[in-house]
Amino acid sequence: MIYDYIVIGAGSAGLSFAALMENKGHSVCLLEAHTIPGGCSSYFERDGYTFDAGATTLSGLKTGRPLRRLIDELNLDLDLVHVDPGIVSVINHKKIHRFSDPQKWNEELSKHFPDVDHKKLWSYFREIEKRGWILTSTFKNIPVRSFKSLFSFLSFKLPTALKTTPELFRSVDSELKKYNIHYQDYLDIIDEMLFITAQNGREETPLLMGAMGLCYPEDTSYAMGGMKAFSESIAKKCSTIFYRHEVQKIIPHENSFTVKTRQGEFEACNVVSTIPFWNHAELFEDQKAKNFFSTKNKPDPSECWSAFMVYLTIPLSPERKDLYFQIHCPQIPNCETKSYFVSLSHPDDKSRSKNGRQVVTISTHSRSSAWLGIDKEIYTRKKEQTSEFILESLKKEFQLQDNDLQNVMTGTPKTFVKYTRRYNGLVGGIPHSIKRNPLEYIIAGSPYKNFYMLGDTQFPGQGIAAVVLGSQNLVNYLN
Ligand SMILES: Cc1cc2nc3c(=O)[nH]c(=O)nc-3n(C[C@H](O)[C@H](O)[C@H](O)COP(=O)(O)OP(=O)(O)OC[C@H]3O[C@@H](n4cnc5c(N)ncnc54)[C@H](O)[C@@H]3O)c2cc1C
Repeated sequence: MIYDYIVIGAGSAGLSFAALMENKGHSVCLLEAHTIPGGCSSYFERDGYTFDAGATTLSGLKTGRPLRRLIDELNLDLDLVHVDPGIVSVINHKKIHRFSDPQKWNEELSKHFPDVDHKKLWSYFREIEKRGWILTSTFKNIPVRSFKSLFSFLSFKLPTALKTTPELFRSVDSELKKYNIHYQDYLDIIDEMLFITAQNGREETPLLMGAMGLCYPEDTSYAMGGMKAFSESIAKKCSTIFYRHEVQKIIPHENSFTVKTRQGEFEACNVVSTIPFWNHAELFEDQKAKNFFSTKNKPDPSECWSAFMVYLTIPLSPERKDLYFQIHCPQIPNCETKSYFVSLSHPDDKSRSKNGRQVVTISTHSRSSAWLGIDKEIYTRKKEQTSEFILESLKKEFQLQDNDLQNVMTGTPKTFVKYTRRYNGLVGGIPHSIKRNPLEYIIAGSPYKNFYMLGDTQFPGQGIAAVVLGSQNLVNYLN
């Protein structure tokens, strides 16, 4: 059979693209290397508990935003709970609740950091965020794939686009400087929030992406059943998924492609690949594609992050009402940022919170170079050192005893290589930076006609909502 589309990778990008295209009547074959769907938004089961493997939060659920549109269009069977506060930042004995309601958030900030015009600053962030969403939800051809769509990009919503363009060249810090903020804790909270949303700090993150990232906790939800429920709900809408089918080679023909796996060959008129940019070099034989996907080409992989993960269960506590915490701490050994992100299973989620215990996923930014290609003993020692540091801090912040921590496991960039096949275990996408050429964001490249790329190393992908938006835009372009 010759499919209309072969999709490579059943992460959030591949699942959403395949389900939406099938919904439009196309024949789609989804090939996934792992045994289950989800990729970085996947899960694993141990000792009767279901752990989120990477991503834990869902955003972009307000009307017109990517996940809301996906859920409505595919009629996904999901039980979502809005989480408010979206994040609790814990810093120097302060707990700062990132409330959804603008007034409550201003009051919370004023309580901890008086004499700053929070209302003005955050109204401005919210205005930029709104413009960002207007552009992304009304202009459905980004990144542009033809002159025709470039022209429509320039003519459509021109005033909003013109007003927003300078915010691609200006950093979040340039705006903060106007407010004379002398509270280091406040700046650190903003920095670490940016690291988990834009993958960069305030000095480099463009104001547009920064404002969208800083406002994302206002639109955060928990999926009952965790990421397993989220990814499986989309997978159910894809009739042809082959798991344990790692793509080994892609052979382009004049009007079609052969895609080879160890289990067999597949043919399609179009291929949509959602694996990281640099993974493609080894999938093609010809030099043209190898050059296109070379690591010397942009985006530079050395600028990208991987993650260190700790998974465990802790006793449920009636006092612990919040689900997502960003705990600030001194430099974590073998990691780079000064915080770690803690996600808890919802206490009412009976499929995950059971036996009086809550499931915990902890993540923090780390460089692949700290973990790959090193001696096994050193690797093991580093892993212990990093997880001990995080667990000691967690015990202090959550008032836990040693024996409260059970089912403890860790993950490193090596784990991401094993379970997601991502080049060097790099996750989270390309850090947004004012140093990058904005044309890289806007123009979609590909070495072949009818070969398309999606996912979090392609614009607009960063986080689940953004990779889904990329899929929705490609579906729109192809139909
Ligand atoms: C620790 C962590 C926490 C995060 N937290 C959040 C969060 O809370 N909220 C949020 O929105 N985002 C979060 N993100 C980001 C988000 O998870 C990702 O940006 C998004 O899931 C990426 O989806 P993707 O489809 O582009 O790629 P992936 O999820 O990597 O999917 C690619 C798929 O391709 C498969 N694959 C690879 N090579 C091959 C091959 N040769 N053949 C066949 N299949 C192949 C992989 O197995 C994988 O399933 C987080 C990421 C990490 C790592």
